[in-house]
Amino acid sequence: MQGCPVHTPVPECMQLYRQGLLEEAGKMLFQNNPLTAVTSQVCDWKQFCYGHCVLNVKMIPIRWYEIEQEISGQYLETCRLERQSEEFGGKRIAIVGAGPAGIAAAVWLYQAGGEVTLFDANPRMGGVLRYGIPAFRLDKKYCDSYEKILTEAGVEFRGGVELGKDITVKELSASYDAVLLAIGAEEPSSLHIPGDERAVQALPFLKNPSAYKLGKKVIVIGGGNVAMDACRTAVRQGAETWVYYRKTFENMPANPMEVEEAKADGVQFKVFQAPVEVKEGGVVFRDCENVEPEDGGRVVTRIIEGTDHFVECDTLLTAISEKPDSELLEAAQGYENVFLAGDFLTGPKTVVEAVASAREALEAMKTKI
Ligand SMILES: Cc1cc2nc3c(=O)[nH]c(=O)nc-3n(C[C@H](O)[C@H](O)[C@H](O)COP(=O)(O)OP(=O)(O)OC[C@H]3O[C@@H](n4cnc5c(N)ncnc54)[C@H](O)[C@@H]3O)c2cc1C
Ligand code: SF4
Repeated sequence: MQGCPVHTPVPECMQLYRQGLLEEAGKMLFQNNPLTAVTSQVCDWKQFCYGHCVLNVKMIPIRWYEIEQEISGQYLETCRLERQSEEFGGKRIAIVGAGPAGIAAAVWLYQAGGEVTLFDANPRMGGVLRYGIPAFRLDKKYCDSYEKILTEAGVEFRGGVELGKDITVKELSASYDAVLLAIGAEEPSSLHIPGDERAVQALPFLKNPSAYKLGKKVIVIGGGNVAMDACRTAVRQGAETWVYYRKTFENMPANPMEVEEAKADGVQFKVFQAPVEVKEGGVVFRDCENVEPEDGGRVVTRIIEGTDHFVECDTLLTAISEKPDSELLEAAQGYENVFLAGDFLTGPKTVVEAVASAREALEAMKTKI
């Protein structure tokens, strides 16, 4: 289907669904995108696929993702992996990173006859699905299902093993026929303002929220998915929670539905606010405004000098553009049998795009080994 990064075969699945052939529809979806049970819940479908789907009798686009979720959720509960070809027969393949890209690759490589070992620094599989997206948005049972399906099939899972510390790219490249690095983009960006060491990074907070004492008032800086999950988690811990963002709501990279859900949860927003200093007990912000250049070019947001104001808070959470680990990116260069996928390759994107990128990496792997 147009719009969907993994080209989900919607008309074919709808046909099976209408005939009551849910198992067959589930198999088709899983084969195309092993993470379908998850993407149908967390995709920004308005951005990707809504409106490209089969029209219903009233000529309104169907909510395909709801049907996808019903079919895929059921299928995952009973799914068993089987060998389907010998394309990677006899090949030993190491995958580092058991997030969406690593899981999708492990499923396809196993089906294609590969002997797969999946490494991860964390003790359990799932990546951001287990250690980032909060349980109120995505049930951890899906990560458990993938772990079960893969380990029951015989994929070796080695949790608690960190690339760059316990193993190196060089060692893996020498010991395996192919190596896929899908270790995500977890390196936080700093605010680069005085006092920013006082801020708490949103990703470690989301990994283990109960380990943090937030206090009465929390400010979250950022406007992406991570910021929305951080503010919705903070408000659930009973803190008065604010999101401060430099630009307008329209500029926020987060899924607009998530912004609405955050508001419904009681999170308050203040736009056109740029942090300039983090102090004991709060943050100094400066107002911003949109300016239309005289030559008619793109509207730019600029800081208004002389508008500094101090806003009290007990905890400042920052969620501003995470990056792939630059040292490991460098270490991965120059090996014929090392491939990259997911956020590690593309920078922070989405679950469905991580799956699409895993598929591309396997296509490249096929031609090289
Ligand atoms: C809080 C949050 C909310 C999000 N919400 C959404 C959403 O609603 N919808 C959506 O589509 N996308 C969302 N995203 C983005 C999406 O989760 C990612 O794009 C996706 O998980 C990328 O998959 P990945 O497999 O590339 O990486 P990851 O999911 O990051 O998995 C990488 C894995 O590699 C492991 N790893 C990292 N470094 C090492 C190392 N050195 N050695 C060994 N293992 C290592 C990690 O432990 C992790 O398990 C969100 C992201 C975050 C952080
Ligand atoms: S995987 Fe995501 S983008 Fe693709 S059809 Fe499903 S909900 Fe839409």
